[in-house]
Amino acid sequence: MEQILERFPFYLTILSTVCGGITVALIGGMTIWTFRDIRARSRDPLAHILATILVLVVPIIGLVVYLMLRPQETLAETYERSLEQEALLQAIEEPEACPGCGQRVEGAYLYCPACHTRLKSACPACNRALHLRWSLCPYCGASVTPQVVEPVALSAESALEEELPAEV
Ligand SMILES: [Zn+2]
Ligand SMILES: [Zn+2]
Repeated sequence: MEQILERFPFYLTILSTVCGGITVALIGGMTIWTFRDIRARSRDPLAHILATILVLVVPIIGLVVYLMLRPQETLAETYERSLEQEALLQAIEEPEACPGCGQRVEGAYLYCPACHTRLKSACPACNRALHLRWSLCPYCGASVTPQVVEPVALSAESALEEELPAEV
């Protein structure tokens, strides 16, 4: 028993060394994790330094504060989202293709310049290009007769014939 009491300071030293080691490892781990995490979420070097110092100086509370304040999205997620949005925008703005020959045509074209397929009809009231299936002009509200979408017009003449119902 005396022997144990004599060696007590020695055990205490070992214990404190182990505890200190664990604490240092934990703080080091938290700091490194924070540094990596903020780097994935921000390009600002100041934010990297501030977040890392915060967690290093006030270990656990700093980490909690960091978790509350960090940017929600990682840079990779932001990039992915911007790509998605771009793809959506592109789908909206992408020039249409002629159903007859596949040539790119602009939204306002009534006929394909390459194969003369009828693409759209003009609004009788405001003269803007309308999809053939539409029954109402979205620009001026005039009601229009929806037209059956013709398959490919084989030649310029057949396309023209479609255009002049009076002659048929
Ligand atoms: Zn065409
Ligand atoms: Zn119209």
